Amino acid sequence: MAHILPLPFVFTQSNLQSFLNCPYQFYLHYVLHFQWPAAQARDLLQFEADRLAGARFHQLVHQLFLGVSLPKLSQMAKNDPDTRVATWFETFTTTFPQTLPGELFPEYTLGVTLGGQELTAKYDLLQCDSGHFTIYDWKTSRRQPRKTWLAGQMQSRVFPLVLALHLDEINQPFTELRMVYWEAAQPERPYIFKSTAQTLVEDQAYILALMQKINRLSPADFHKTEDIQRCQYCRYRSYCNRGTQPPEDDQAFIEAHYLELAAEPEEVIFEDEIS
Ligand code: SF4
Repeated sequence: MAHILPLPFVFTQSNLQSFLNCPYQFYLHYVLHFQWPAAQARDLLQFEADRLAGARFHQLVHQLFLGVSLPKLSQMAKNDPDTRVATWFETFTTTFPQTLPGELFPEYTLGVTLGGQELTAKYDLLQCDSGHFTIYDWKTSRRQPRKTWLAGQMQSRVFPLVLALHLDEINQPFTELRMVYWEAAQPERPYIFKSTAQTLVEDQAYILALMQKINRLSPADFHKTEDIQRCQYCRYRSYCNRGTQPPEDDQAFIEAHYLELAAEPEEVIFEDEIS
């Protein structure tokens, strides 16, 4: 077996999605840690600006659930150089319940071991209410993707699975496990996915097989994607000589936002348990 992954390697929804989108991108980013300056093209600069604005919005919501006063955070949002941050934050505070029942775990990371491999998930907000668990994820995309598309993304499969496996590890039963995508562009229409015993079994088998497959590959097996659309918001676009023109269809833009490639594997907090 090849074992080319840098150790310790932690699988996440981001790197698994990266592999599915383009094995070569996974290889460059997560195996070689290859630094390649993103092209100074207008579309990529806009993508980066969107990503950073979204990250600042996440920080504000995180602080809100930590108990920082709303007026103070609202002022911080208004001071943000990107006016969308204030708009998103106001939308959030006026449409999302400020008080949720049960215990709340904002920006919470869980890690489990599956088939000898570490798999982690970092949740924007985790709610535990008498056996009912809800994973919340905030999105700031330009428009909401199709629900069927989102259901197939690794985030929608990894996040519930990691939580279910963790609860199993600590012998904590649950009566409901669901994932809610709250989208700033359409706050009145969040996407809600409920996990069942069957979907969790299927996701576990699928994700385990995927991790095992990646572990077996040699460098030459990490092929470039044949879907050129995927290259349009990839930082390696010029390195791969995959064109310089912005996309004609903004569907790729939406996917790029939802992929949310993390710069580094998430920090794992194994010692914190939901009680
Ligand atoms: S530019 Fe395209 S082929 Fe190259 S790593 Fe990115 S997605 Fe893969």
